Amino acid sequence: MTTWKTKAFQDLAVPLTKAIGPESAQQFLKLNCETCGDLLRLLPRHFMSGTELTDIRSLIARHQGDDEYVALLARISNVHIKGEFPRQRVEVTLSDGHGSLTATFFGQKKYLEYWQRLLSRSERGIFAGKIGWFRNYPQLTHPAFAMVTKNGFLGNDEAQEMATAVGEKSFIGLYPQTSKLMTWVVAKSIKTCLGLISGLEDPLPRWVRDKAEVSDLLLAFHQVHTPMSKKTYDKGVQRLLFDEAFATQVAMAYRRQDSSKHTAIPRLVGPDGLLTAFDAHLPFTLTHEQIEIGKAITEDLGKTRPMQRLLQGEVGSGKTVVALRAMLTVADAGGQAVLLAPTEVLAVQHAYTVMELMGELTHGDLITAGPTTDVVLLTGSMTAAAKGAAIAKITSGEAGIIIGTHALLSKGVQFADLGLVVVDEQHRFGVEQRNALADQGTTRPHILVMTATPIPRSVAMTIFGDLDMSTLVEIPAGRAQVTTTVVDVKAKPAWVDRAWERVREEVARGRQVFVVAPKIDPTDKNEGTSVVEAAGMLTAGPLAGLRLAVLHSRLPTSEKTDIMARFTAGEIDVLVATSMIEVGVDQPNASMMVVFDAERFGISQLHQLRGRIGRGEYPGVCILLTQAEEETPARERLEAVAQTRDGFELAKADLAQRREGDVLGMNQSGRRSSLRLLKVLEHGEIIDLARGLAEEVVRRDPLMTDPGIADYVADVEARAQADLIESA
Ligand code: ADP
Ligand code: MG
Repeated sequence: MTTWKTKAFQDLAVPLTKAIGPESAQQFLKLNCETCGDLLRLLPRHFMSGTELTDIRSLIARHQGDDEYVALLARISNVHIKGEFPRQRVEVTLSDGHGSLTATFFGQKKYLEYWQRLLSRSERGIFAGKIGWFRNYPQLTHPAFAMVTKNGFLGNDEAQEMATAVGEKSFIGLYPQTSKLMTWVVAKSIKTCLGLISGLEDPLPRWVRDKAEVSDLLLAFHQVHTPMSKKTYDKGVQRLLFDEAFATQVAMAYRRQDSSKHTAIPRLVGPDGLLTAFDAHLPFTLTHEQIEIGKAITEDLGKTRPMQRLLQGEVGSGKTVVALRAMLTVADAGGQAVLLAPTEVLAVQHAYTVMELMGELTHGDLITAGPTTDVVLLTGSMTAAAKGAAIAKITSGEAGIIIGTHALLSKGVQFADLGLVVVDEQHRFGVEQRNALADQGTTRPHILVMTATPIPRSVAMTIFGDLDMSTLVEIPAGRAQVTTTVVDVKAKPAWVDRAWERVREEVARGRQVFVVAPKIDPTDKNEGTSVVEAAGMLTAGPLAGLRLAVLHSRLPTSEKTDIMARFTAGEIDVLVATSMIEVGVDQPNASMMVVFDAERFGISQLHQLRGRIGRGEYPGVCILLTQAEEETPARERLEAVAQTRDGFELAKADLAQRREGDVLGMNQSGRRSSLRLLKVLEHGEIIDLARGLAEEVVRRDPLMTDPGIADYVADVEARAQADLIESA
């Protein structure tokens, strides 16, 4: 439990169980609200003015096919009892003069008559429920409702609550709802919380507020929950957005300051070491960028303060080589360097890549040139004996280059002298794992984080605000063309046949092919073709006679590694796999990829998948099979992927479609995320402003003596910590 320094944070941290009772609090968990503060940050999504009817057509359009609860103010007509037992019901037409929908209530006669009376009491009412479809006509079944009358509200069960919640106000905010929490119940609970914080003193220093030109916090809560106009509401929202941006930025700013206080052991490049030998043996010339970034890294590694660097670069831009050179520098200087991969298969793959790149410099797992050091692989599923042997070498310091998965973070592993940690594909590792690793020992290792997902600046500042950044923009020379085609399997079945023919042609030329499907076997809950079905269909039909293998995460690790090894060795023609091949798999001989049910994959995922082909000299062909109809968003995503290989463009398109929580790689539910309202892509300006002010705060108050600031930081760090524990 965090001990808050300010009364404001204490008040906002009051659990909802205490504020509104355990039963209602339980319901609010579904809306990711645990405390008063959480609830007060739950904002109305739409507004209803007491006099304006809701635009029913756009409401229906907005909620077509989703499960969200809606509320609307509508004119009521045609209240009739219809049908015979047991389908006896009251039907009523709700309209706004343009669009309309039906509300239906089923029940015993006496209830029907009661509802009929109630619904006939006024011309207007507020209805809340889920929009469903009956014979192509939208309807609300058993909506909660309240009739708007001169004497207040009248309605079914919750009418009383609603009357209290909305009172006499003419401008009513509609909150996100669940089946148990109608908008007015939310409103009422928020009112209770507003009452509890009535004396709230703003925890944000006055000068910060003034410079940011935002409302006082208490005022902001009132502005968003009891606004007189959209304008007041926006003003309040602005403050809450700023709070979130500022909290993360000020936490990052102190982290940066903090890490500058930590010490690291400088790892200096010696003459004629492994690195020199490695460079001399590379089968290609490093690009200008690889050299420049290499220099920056070398400089960082030579300092007494830990490097914290993010290396961004397209799939195939040559990050691994850059990382390996940094690792060799550290090994050369007598330290240990670790490469952390997100999955076991990737760890194994990395180990192969490292061995191969080192060529003659490795002898078995022994580097024989220069100062010798072992390359060691450690993954969770290795046998106890193999693990023991690896750990022994790590502990003794014999292993200078260590490659593995999370297993490396487990307590059993003690490093002799950990000098560098390289984290591959950061988006799959929580931000916080990085910090856990950083906390081994009294000095900290240098850290290099690699990501293939290009990250827009505002996102980078929020997630990686404590890192320096390097970007590989060029793709090394010799990279082949990849042509991508979207194939509508229903409209163009002949194209599908042609795709398989093409696969045979590629294989006949000595190339290899990936076939990707969205799920493992037919028992999977996901929709779409499974890898197992696809493989069966292909071997029995269009790809009969080719050497085909199946790869997915449920296979035993030894089998997965074996299949990857055989694929790399060219003993498998067609690898039918799940998206697990998305990152890191490097087979320059692979020239074609066919993706089943491509619409089941996200933009970045497809881009990453496609990055597996055209890695060598052979031009690539990527076929995206889909059933998605033209002009649907799903289809448009695929067309976007087909149109460009510019990862930055695709990342932007992708981020725009995804939830922020996913972007941040945090807890899916976002419950603990510090970002509730802030959209990192949309609110770049606020983030910039907050970052500037956060830096000023750290300059003015390096020891963090301001209790409010300390609370903002503690809040962000506590959530980060909670995420870490949850994901461990
Ligand atoms: P990333 O990790 O960024 O996806 P890799 O480091 O795996 O990229 O590099 C992709 C492929 O390009 C590898 O086969 C690698 O050996 C090769 N490569 C890296 N740098 C160069 C270069 N400068 N010139 C030619 N090929 C390169
Ligand atoms: Mg790589």
